[in-house]
Amino acid sequence: MYPRLEIDINKLKHNASVLSKKCKEKGIETAVVTKVYCAFPEVVKYLKDSGIKYIADSRIKNLKKLRDINISKILIRIPMITEVEEVVKYADISLNSEFEVIKKLDEKARILNEKHKIALMVDLGDLREGYFKEEELFKVVEKVLKLKNIELIGLGTNLTCYGAVIPSKENLGRLCSLAKEIENKFNIKLSFISGGNSSSLHLLDKGEMPEKVTNLRLGEAIALGRETAFGEVIEGTYQDVFKLVCEIIELKEKPSIPIGEIGVDAFGNKPYYEDRGIRKRAIVGIGKQDINVDGVIPMDTKIDILGASSDHLILDVTDSDKEYKVGDKIEFNLEYGGLMAASTSEYVAKVFKYGDEKELAYNV
Ligand SMILES: *Cc1c(COP(=O)(O)O)cnc(C)c1O
Repeated sequence: MYPRLEIDINKLKHNASVLSKKCKEKGIETAVVTKVYCAFPEVVKYLKDSGIKYIADSRIKNLKKLRDINISKILIRIPMITEVEEVVKYADISLNSEFEVIKKLDEKARILNEKHKIALMVDLGDLREGYFKEEELFKVVEKVLKLKNIELIGLGTNLTCYGAVIPSKENLGRLCSLAKEIENKFNIKLSFISGGNSSSLHLLDKGEMPEKVTNLRLGEAIALGRETAFGEVIEGTYQDVFKLVCEIIELKEKPSIPIGEIGVDAFGNKPYYEDRGIRKRAIVGIGKQDINVDGVIPMDTKIDILGASSDHLILDVTDSDKEYKVGDKIEFNLEYGGLMAASTSEYVAKVFKYGDEKELAYNV
């Protein structure tokens, strides 16, 4: 069934092993972030034995799907008050930045007879979640330490998301000195210092990762084999774990400029067309309703994407070395946004490849 998202489990597992080894050499435990592929349990259960310590996801719904997989789980989006019960049930650790929510987590944990672990988020300047003011952070630590069913295990930060701020030894150093200050002031030990996501990896190579950092939360680096501060490929990893495969539904030679008066396209935009004469155009059966067409790259580098409407993706295949026919399949590499949309789309079938011809189709 097409379009389909093919997931090579062995390649993903390999990437997880490479990254967790790289982190371990610097005394850092890895949390694999599974949100970009919806934490498909068919995938995640195979990641357990790749040296990683935690599974992390932004959605409690995803962690709930993984409840039978025996590994520590972290909820990485700060919880909603309305989901605290599920957070205590399905996450071992949650990242937090609001005392009101933490108090509710404590109440639920008491009812469920659990001890819920939290890390407090610190905003180092990226201006998404976390405590921005130090005094506020120290005050909340004092209050959290009085809660009986909450265990404060450390601090975390997130960078290069909203503000695109690149992790450095200075900003992560500040996270570590805050942790030290808290340890001294309150006479506690903070064992979990989570120094960010795939954009922090460059500090490992440069030997600039502050020593106190004990955890990284890695999504894109493991899924796509790239660090995200500079977009560099990570040595020894695969970039083609995920592949989108679509089918050609029309193949015809047509002019490159539409005929007639040009108004606006299906999305209200006024398009521009370059006259390249008569070209061979392939339409594949996928469109803006199915995926994020800006996040897909044809693996045949001689194919150009001309555009897309809700249900159609139009390709120029004139220069390709391959003689395509109707019914042929066209493969695409995926960028982060393309992978996210293909994963969540109910119109894209998921095919899990385990390497030994045993394939499992999902959602078909
Ligand atoms: C998505 C996310 C991550 C993972 O980011 P990558 O760039 O994919 O490694 C880590 N932490 C938080 C809080 C996130 O939301």
